Amino acid sequence: TVGAVAYDGDSFAAATSTGGRWFALAGRVGDVPQIGSGFYAAPAGAASATGAGEAIAKTTLTRRAVRYLEDGVDAATAAERAVADLGELTGEGAGVIVLDREGRFGEAYNTDAMQTSRN
Ligand code: ASP
Repeated sequence: TVGAVAYDGDSFAAATSTGGRWFALAGRVGDVPQIGSGFYAAPAGAASATGAGEAIAKTTLTRRAVRYLEDGVDAATAAERAVADLGELTGEGAGVIVLDREGRFGEAYNTDAMQTSRN
């Protein structure tokens, strides 16, 4: 996955790409193209996800992270809570990056398969 979140001081954007999953069934639609699963952007912030797509979709991971922003927490806390929820609800591995209205960046993952970088 390559995911990105951006904020220009007014609007948010989120993007997610994927190499897919090994041994995926033909016709599988993963989390990546689903708004609120692989990516989400709203007035409160933006999020992009990687990892087990079925678990990301079942928990609407990026919508969940932005919902935590809407509840008033910062990006780091929103990322941690969303990934913790996914782990508890599905037992699967995933990660998420989050950006909030103050320009704070958050990241959380429960699998070593995720790496992040900031620019
Ligand atoms: N989330 C993707 C999928 O399940 C895999 C990835 O790129 O992390 O299709």
